[in-house]
Amino acid sequence: MKIAVTRVDTPGTRPEDKNLGFGTVFTDHMFVMEYAVEKGWHDPRIEPFAEFALSPAAMVYHYGQAIFEGLKAYKTPDKKIQLFRPRDNFARLNQSARGLCIPEIDVDFVMDALKQLLKLEKDWIPETLGTSLYIRPFIIATDPFLGVRSSFTFKFFIILSSVGAYYAGGLAPVKIWVSRDHVRAVPGGVGEFKTAGNYAASLNAGEIAKKQGYAQVLWLDALERKYIEEVGAMNIFFLVGDELVTPNLTGSILPGITRFSVIDLAKKWGMQVSERKISIDEVFDAHAKGNLIEVFGSGTAAVISPVGEICYGEKKIHIGDTKPGKTAMKFYDALTSIQYGTAKDTENWIEKVD
Ligand SMILES: *Cc1c(COP(=O)(O)O)cnc(C)c1O
Repeated sequence: MKIAVTRVDTPGTRPEDKNLGFGTVFTDHMFVMEYAVEKGWHDPRIEPFAEFALSPAAMVYHYGQAIFEGLKAYKTPDKKIQLFRPRDNFARLNQSARGLCIPEIDVDFVMDALKQLLKLEKDWIPETLGTSLYIRPFIIATDPFLGVRSSFTFKFFIILSSVGAYYAGGLAPVKIWVSRDHVRAVPGGVGEFKTAGNYAASLNAGEIAKKQGYAQVLWLDALERKYIEEVGAMNIFFLVGDELVTPNLTGSILPGITRFSVIDLAKKWGMQVSERKISIDEVFDAHAKGNLIEVFGSGTAAVISPVGEICYGEKKIHIGDTKPGKTAMKFYDALTSIQYGTAKDTENWIEKVD
C-alpha cells in the first residue's frame, strides 16, 4: 500500500524544551488509515493534523470500542532518531485489537508508516535529555449505529506530541493511595488491553486520591481486594530484602513493555526477580520488619517512578528518605541511556529511524 502525503502549508514551531509539558503540543502531521470489512485496512495517508468529522452516532462515542498505544521517539547525541521496542507496542496493539474485536494491523507496514511520519516531523523532536516525541497510535470504531455489536468500520491514527522531561527537577518519589472501594479491572475483563474504558473506570478513584494529596491510585485485585495489581498507568515493583517482586500477569494487569525491560535487566544483573502474587498486607508487613527497601513504578511516560509513600485506609508507610532508591535509579539510568543512545543497546531494543 502506498502512503499518500499531504503537507501543511505553514509548519508550526516547537516550543522551547523547558516550556514543554505532556500531551498538549501536537506536530503538523498525522498518519491515518481506514478499515472496511470488504477492503481491509486501506487509504493510508499522512496529512495535516486536524479535526475530522464523524457521525454523532459513531460507535466509539457510545460503546467505547477504542484501543491505543504509547511510545516515544528519542534524539541521540548525534541527532539521530530512535525508538525503544516499537514492534512490541504494535504487537500489543494487535493483542488489544483481538480483545476488543478490532481488526489487526500489519506491524511491518505500520512501522514503515511511523518512520516516514517521524522523518517528516523530525524538527518536533526535542533534544534535551529527558524530553522526547510521544507517539500515540490508536484505533476507533466508526460505524454510525446505535445497536450493540462490533463495528464494521474503523479508523487508525498515529498522532505525535513533543513532551518535556517527566522529572524536570530530578527523579522525585511519588505518593500513592490504595483504593479499597474501586477496582480497575476484573478477571475475564479487558484490564490487560490498552483500551479507553479502563481509563474511564479509573477516574473516580483517581479524583479521590488527588483530593487527599496522592498522585496515583494503587489498584488491588477485584475479587479479594488483597493482591496488588498496578498503579494508574504504570506497573509496580517492590524490593523486599533481596527479592525484586512484581505482580504476575493475571489477565487484569496491563503487560507493560517497561515492566518486561526491568525484569530482563534485573535477571541479567543477577538479581532475584519474582513475578508472583504480592498482597498489600505483605508489603506493610515487610515495611514493619524493615525489609521493604524500595518501591517503584514502570511505564513509558516516566520510565521509572520511585514511590515514597503508600496510604492504605488508616495506615501510611514511608519508603526511603524522600530521595529515589539506588535500585530505581539504576534501572532509570540503564533504560534511559539505552533510549537516548548514550549507552550500548546490549539487549537489541533500539530501532533506528534515520
Ligand atoms: C500503558 C500502561 C502501562 C505501562 O506500559 P508500558 O508499555 O511500560 O508503557 C501500565 N499500566 C497501564 C494501565 C497502562 O495503560
